[in-house]
Amino acid sequence: PRINIAIDGPAGAGKSTVARKVASALRYIYIDTGAMYRAVTLKVLESGLSTEDNEGVGRLADGLDIVLLPGAESQRVLVNGEDVTSRIRTLDINRNVSYVARLADVRSRMAELQRRMALEKGVVMDGRDIGTHVLPDAELKVFLTATPRERAKRRFLELDPNEGITLEQLEKEITERDRLDQERNIAPLLQAHDALLLDSTGKTVDEVAEEIVQWGLAAVRT
Ligand code: C5P
Repeated sequence: PRINIAIDGPAGAGKSTVARKVASALRYIYIDTGAMYRAVTLKVLESGLSTEDNEGVGRLADGLDIVLLPGAESQRVLVNGEDVTSRIRTLDINRNVSYVARLADVRSRMAELQRRMALEKGVVMDGRDIGTHVLPDAELKVFLTATPRERAKRRFLELDPNEGITLEQLEKEITERDRLDQERNIAPLLQAHDALLLDSTGKTVDEVAEEIVQWGLAAVRT
């Protein structure tokens, strides 16, 4: 039998790297829900719509065909057939995504797509509201954290050096994004009551992934 695994937590906790490894170890499908909100944000910025315009942005999101293509190293993200994988990982997107992600119509649309992707089980889905809202029946829920400095360091290493931001400034921006994600009205970033807390500070990706794989195998057996 297969289960669904939800991995939530703040920015830079290592969710996507870990989730990808867990999925590959279990031969499951990895779904990066943050990439979906990032893709919508890219289109919002291109369209000139305001990130406050719930209905306008909701309509825009309804018209987007968002496809996540699994790849060995990283997942490709297509929007209406266009590969936007690298364009959704910029500071500009980072700075706007939490405003788009608090819009009600965007969230309901994304949650619907995400639930459909998980219908047949065997997915590892990472995000902010997966265990609490999108897949409340997931057989395994993990809340992954790390200290703000450690999280900033990880994101720093992923960014294009041309973005020209210091580690200190990035830490501030990440903390601000977490605050917006925690304080929004709909499906905020929150540890589900039945989620297992895992602090990845000082641990390697492989150690963290292995711990979750073991929990997953135990959950399959019960
Ligand atoms: O995980 P990542 O950092 O790519 O997520 C980008 C943003 O997308 C988050 O800061 C949050 O505002 C939003 N998000 C969300 N719900 C999810 C996943 C991401 O609101 N399930």
